[in-house]
Amino acid sequence: MMEKLPEYLRLAEMVTQKQNWKEALDASIPLVRSVLVFDNLALYLINEQKHILDEIVFARAVGRGKSAEADAAWGEKVAAQVVGENSMIVQEPKQVDSANRVHFPFVLGLPLRTSFGLVGAVIFIRFGGPAYTPDQVMCAQMVATQFSSLFDRKHLQEQVERMQDASRVVALQEDFIATISHEMRTPLGFIKGYSTTLLRQDIDWDDETRREFLTIIDEEADRLNTLLQNILESARLQSETLPINFQPVRLDALIRDTVIRAQARYRDLKIDIEASACPPVLADSVRLAQVLENLFSNAAKYAPGAPVHVKLTNDALHQQINVYDDGPGIPPEHLPHIFERFYRAQVNSSSGSGLGLFICRKIIEAHGGSIQAESPAGQGAHFTIKLPLAQAGTEAKG
Ligand code: ADP
Repeated sequence: MMEKLPEYLRLAEMVTQKQNWKEALDASIPLVRSVLVFDNLALYLINEQKHILDEIVFARAVGRGKSAEADAAWGEKVAAQVVGENSMIVQEPKQVDSANRVHFPFVLGLPLRTSFGLVGAVIFIRFGGPAYTPDQVMCAQMVATQFSSLFDRKHLQEQVERMQDASRVVALQEDFIATISHEMRTPLGFIKGYSTTLLRQDIDWDDETRREFLTIIDEEADRLNTLLQNILESARLQSETLPINFQPVRLDALIRDTVIRAQARYRDLKIDIEASACPPVLADSVRLAQVLENLFSNAAKYAPGAPVHVKLTNDALHQQINVYDDGPGIPPEHLPHIFERFYRAQVNSSSGSGLGLFICRKIIEAHGGSIQAESPAGQGAHFTIKLPLAQAGTEAKG
């Protein structure tokens, strides 16, 4: 026992120094085997959500006998027993037929206990013996203690990650509140300013000026309304309560209509369409139009003056809409996040709430489809929407 002390120290060191628990386990196998001879070793973890032992997380076959995977199946029985009783189990055959050792496993199972409770079991197997001596059992217990500390650390790492995620959400929400207040203040400022001006009794406004001021008030009220709608919708999409009304939709026609509307709204936006007639998909035309409008309004905002190209194609399973612009594109560090709620790449740009692409993604996902963005260097922003053809669409949540 004592003569193995240097090996234990090295094992303890290895376990604390490796960043990743699987790497640590991998690296420790030769060392473990030098203090305790075994053929197979397997680790099982308790599934935290389901509170059952259902995860084999690690298996190594180093000695005689079968493959690690085949053994893992019956190691599981002993592992379940170890976890059920929260104690060590030794299972040894009464006698061994030395011609066929692999049918006579000597199994030693030990609980993996951490500071937050029992997390699983480690199983050692020797085919055809010899039986585990009390000294060897103690060695196995020391190894199990070292392995347990790996899971203690894994748990802590996961907790840190969860906290980082949560604080990222909080930061995003704080940003969001700042952006939203700014976004609301601008139209409200116009509405207040122009209505106060119109109400002044010392000036008699001519019809044309009055009309101009009222038009601004009207447009700014619309802007506020859209913003509020976006906030509300994004909350409902987040909780998946936004109704989607599925009907057969011809995407080529829908694209043409949306493009006409976008060009009326954004005078400088040049959009060309490449879409031949295609079979209808089951979709909510209002929601799909909203997705395209959003992509066009982003192109107008972030790629001003750049031409936009819309293309519709289909294969046996999907219809695909590509929306390409020729603007500055999206920096690679932002690209993975732009579909997240409240995420904005250009925080300083004049308007936006970081909700547009989140809403797009949720709508497309509610149709059983996908939306992706790419931004090849120097080639602008490329969005690809894939929608399943009819029967796949009917399965989507309504
Ligand atoms: P926002 O309200 O900020 O426009 P979106 O969710 O619509 O929010 O877009 C998220 C971010 O993605 C934007 O802040 C912008 O930085 C980036 N983005 C979206 N579309 C484009 C585009 N066509 N070109 C460059 N950047 C874009």
